[in-house]
Amino acid sequence: MGNGKSLGAGRNLQGIKQKRKEVSVRNGNGHQDLSAVATLEGRLEVFPEEILPVVHRETAAPHSDRLAEIVKLLLVELGVDVANQHFRETPERVARFYREFAGGFCVRPETILKTFRSEARELVVVSGIDFFSLCPHHLLVYGGRIHFGYIPNGQIVGVSKIPRLVHALAARPIIQEELVSSIADAFMSVVKPSGCIVKAIGKHDCVAVRGVHCPAVSMTTVTKRGIFEQERLHVEEFDRAITEGQRCVR
Ligand SMILES: [Zn+2]
Repeated sequence: MGNGKSLGAGRNLQGIKQKRKEVSVRNGNGHQDLSAVATLEGRLEVFPEEILPVVHRETAAPHSDRLAEIVKLLLVELGVDVANQHFRETPERVARFYREFAGGFCVRPETILKTFRSEARELVVVSGIDFFSLCPHHLLVYGGRIHFGYIPNGQIVGVSKIPRLVHALAARPIIQEELVSSIADAFMSVVKPSGCIVKAIGKHDCVAVRGVHCPAVSMTTVTKRGIFEQERLHVEEFDRAITEGQRCVR
């Protein structure tokens, strides 16, 4: 008989269905049997074009009222008094927060990575990039530091472009393993270096505040492309540069 858990203070399933119906009708989507939650899933389930997932403009356009209604429905089902002063504007705030974490679906790396011709052929490392992303399994925040290195092959990019690329690609629900891969693939496709390497060290709220409750646990993910896959010396040089970067003070 299911998990037997009540879904919210004194509300039965029929009541919840009715709420969903109300939201659906209020939003004027014309499908009374289509729950708000299913609508949200439909909007997030848009799949990749080549390396990077891209949501069609129409899908990504802000329907803030509809997303806010979905958040309101969540609060109602949790038994929250949404008329209380502390919750009155919460649906809109939460909707804005989640919308920030959907911007990464629309990233075009070629618009971020402006390149310059260069004869430089030595390792370039940009380390200590703060990042936050959203775990797709729990929709909880994770974040930490990302370190990036590449060996140019005729083109370089401005130093600020690497954090911009990281932040842009992290702004969507994506697992940390795939976040580092998407950064490496985006960079390789536009800058075409001899190779690049991305290391992310992240702490995950879904490990800290739920489940095993281990806030001290961090996860490191590394991905290598091109020359970094063959030359261990480059990887060691990259790791030393990260350590030196952490010691740098000014
Ligand atoms: Zn998670």
